[in-house]
Amino acid sequence: MVRRVLVIGAGTSGLVGIKTCLDEGLEPVCFESSDDIGGLWRFKESQSESDGTSIYRSLVTNTSKEMMCFSDFPMPAHYPNYLHHAQLLQYYRLYTEHFGLRRHITFQSGQWDVMTVDQDGLEKEHVFDGLLVCSGHYTQPVLPLGQFPGQEQFTGRCLHSWEYKDADAFRGKRVVIVGIGSSGADIAVEISRSAAKTFLSTRKGTWVMGRMSSGGLPLDMVSISRFTKTLTKLLPKWLINWAAERVLNQKYDHRLYGLMPSKRFLDAATLINDDLPGRILQGALVMKTHLCGFTGSGLVFEDGTVEDDIDAVIFCTGYRASFPFLPESLSDGPGGELTLYERVFPPSLERPTLAFMGSCHLATKERMLLVIESQRKRLRSSPRDAALEVDYIPYLDSMAHQIGVRPNILRLFLTDPKLGLKVFLGPCTPYQYRLTGPGRWKGARQAIYTQWDRVAQPFRTRALQEPESRRSGALSLWLLSGVAMVMSCSVLWWRTLE
Ligand SMILES: Cc1cc2nc3c(=O)[nH]c(=O)nc-3n(C[C@H](O)[C@H](O)[C@H](O)COP(=O)(O)OP(=O)(O)OC[C@H]3O[C@@H](n4cnc5c(N)ncnc54)[C@H](O)[C@@H]3O)c2cc1C
Repeated sequence: MVRRVLVIGAGTSGLVGIKTCLDEGLEPVCFESSDDIGGLWRFKESQSESDGTSIYRSLVTNTSKEMMCFSDFPMPAHYPNYLHHAQLLQYYRLYTEHFGLRRHITFQSGQWDVMTVDQDGLEKEHVFDGLLVCSGHYTQPVLPLGQFPGQEQFTGRCLHSWEYKDADAFRGKRVVIVGIGSSGADIAVEISRSAAKTFLSTRKGTWVMGRMSSGGLPLDMVSISRFTKTLTKLLPKWLINWAAERVLNQKYDHRLYGLMPSKRFLDAATLINDDLPGRILQGALVMKTHLCGFTGSGLVFEDGTVEDDIDAVIFCTGYRASFPFLPESLSDGPGGELTLYERVFPPSLERPTLAFMGSCHLATKERMLLVIESQRKRLRSSPRDAALEVDYIPYLDSMAHQIGVRPNILRLFLTDPKLGLKVFLGPCTPYQYRLTGPGRWKGARQAIYTQWDRVAQPFRTRALQEPESRRSGALSLWLLSGVAMVMSCSVLWWRTLE
């Protein structure tokens, strides 16, 4: 008998969950509470409590298309390298259509609890052999108003970034943004273009880098590779910190710009934002220390300074994941948070029939608990964050190893040296995990060979004659990325000799 698997949510994870079930001969039944696919990436003009996720009108991804695509479905070559949310949603529609996923989704399904309740209150019971939870992690805004004395008397408006759509309401106003994560920085930059004054308050600061690396190539395509990962493993931590901070400070001095984090590069938060330093340089955006409290229409900061006549405070203070449909017994971490092995499997279940994505051969329950504890210590984050944070390539490789799809670099060098070089030196794109093992995709090799072509394609809008010595755009991009990588390494070494 075909096993039925319930997939909760039809966002990025849910779509790939449905597709994977189909690949494995399982019968997926997806319940999506909204009326469309795309989850977080489906922009809504107005927001209601039941909507869960929310994004702003101008949101652009900070992961480039070749790094963010599904492993067996490259994005169209003409797509820009960093996508506006509307274009990413379009890509999800292409994926859904291509693999015939839509007919497995029931929209506006209501709440799941082996029983679903539809819009009209009709209850229906279901029995499933497995459950994939793909309901998203950015559902409950964290709004810490209670932490700030005097907030009740504040005459301005307080809101969470969850409510923010665009800067229209803040034109000519004096606005404070609290928090320097991706949303906080994006919103501060956007508002600073039309507000009278914009302040950005941060407790910890951050290291800032742009989406663009040397030669204008996408940062993640140049920096996230097996080669750079190996290099960072070999070099001492102090050296990487020192070199990276010097390189970043050469662009703009983080201390001078008020961005300097309290921690060193490898331990601090990093932010991808192209415009933030420019707005500070132009005085449109003013950096402030940690917010301490409110005084009527003013705000008091940790350094004792006060900013008066503030019209609005936007709290970009993050989200809490919430899974109200799951049994409480699964939230058995030290802080009552979900305990997940490899961020996917709750170890407390006797049989691994519930997953936060995918399915693989599992370690024993004891081994799972051991791994969870060691990762929590290694990442030194709060228990809640530890459930989500990962060290990118090692995490993917470890999951891939358990499923049997981890590329064997040594074997590749011996059997297909050119591909081996691309996999080792080039960006760690998702296609690498489709080269071998279950779910092997015959297009994976070609996708790796042409990945730099798809990076170049959207730039080819003004035909220029290629110098004769250049054989192809793809080759030159490949070389450029190689040079960029070698240069980064040389900078690291050169700095040590200075
Ligand atoms: C501002 C912002 C920017 C980001 N930028 C990037 C980026 O550049 N690159 C990147 O890789 N990631 C980025 N992310 C991370 C983002 O979360 C992922 O890209 C991706 O959207 C996660 O997909 P998901 O399917 O897990 O969750 P979601 O996209 O949140 O989808 C969850 C779906 O589940 C449905 N659902 C929820 N509860 C239920 C229920 N009980 N029953 C039925 N259906 C339910 C929801 O309606 C929704 O459709 C960003 C996140 C934010 C907030």
